[in-house]
Amino acid sequence: MKILRIEKRFCTSCMEEHDVKVVEIEEENIFKGESITYPAEYFYCDNDDEYYAEDDMISRNGLSLRNAYRQKMGLLTTSQIVAIRGKYGVSQSDLCIILGWGEKTITRYEGFQVQDVAHDSILRKLDNDPEWFIYLLENSREKLQPASYDKYKEAGMYLVEKSQSMYLRNAIFSQYAPYFGKIELSGNTILSLDKVSDVVRYFSNSKSVKYLYKVKLMKMLWYADALSYKRYGHAITGLVYCALPMGAVPIAHRLLILLDEINCEESEIDDGTIYNFKPTENKTYPNLTEQEKDVLDTVITRFGFSTKNEIVNAMHNETAFTETAPRDIIQFKYAKALSLS
Ligand SMILES: [Zn+2]
Repeated sequence: MKILRIEKRFCTSCMEEHDVKVVEIEEENIFKGESITYPAEYFYCDNDDEYYAEDDMISRNGLSLRNAYRQKMGLLTTSQIVAIRGKYGVSQSDLCIILGWGEKTITRYEGFQVQDVAHDSILRKLDNDPEWFIYLLENSREKLQPASYDKYKEAGMYLVEKSQSMYLRNAIFSQYAPYFGKIELSGNTILSLDKVSDVVRYFSNSKSVKYLYKVKLMKMLWYADALSYKRYGHAITGLVYCALPMGAVPIAHRLLILLDEINCEESEIDDGTIYNFKPTENKTYPNLTEQEKDVLDTVITRFGFSTKNEIVNAMHNETAFTETAPRDIIQFKYAKALSLS
């Protein structure tokens, strides 16, 4: 037995007041035909060498038995069900409305009644699929209080965005997978998408940066990483750059500009899409060090007001570009010869 705590209380075993131990013991019981082992809580009286429980303990032990059963059968436990509901901030009765279940169903599942497998799958789907939650929410809009509907919608939309952003980040990392373990290609730095978005925002929020379109931004990112490498022996972001005709472009550039923290405006013109990087509300850069901001300031001083052609020409004169075969990865060793210092 494990002693959880000792309480001075009136002991209903020996009928005296004394220090009573609250203990946890492993109990075994049959539940729905299954033999279940689960932790149970009891008082223990030293005087009588007796275990006993009060009503609320008996109730908790009953719940512990059921949760151990749920775990054994691969079903969600009560606290997992509470957590799924909590993600969306939905009340027990409103979740029943949204799922089209009897009004006390969730209350029971968060208590003594073990959910059936079909309902368990629905709750798991809800956990992983906020878009489906929004769909169900829309279908039950009329049956909910408007204020509750608004609140649930906001929570659901937040989770949708979060899951899309996670999907995007995974997609970027998978394009970087071939370079993991070759840290010299990313300038001795492990890829940090938080740093990437901070650097992009640092540029787009600067009053000394104009005409921040995609080609220019990609060059400024490379200059920042190369300059940091030249000064300190490591890049800032961990991006890997290719030599394209207009200069350095990071791997996964199409996805990088979609990171949510970045404010990228797309517009269509005759020969393609223009991406214009705009200031963001958030003007803090928690992932950048002062040293790194100094590097960015140097890049801004040099190229902030440059046009796309000016920065592309500058790039074309860099040893890193002239020494790299078209479409090859640009090695950071050339940063020694960088035109910035
Ligand atoms: Zn006692």
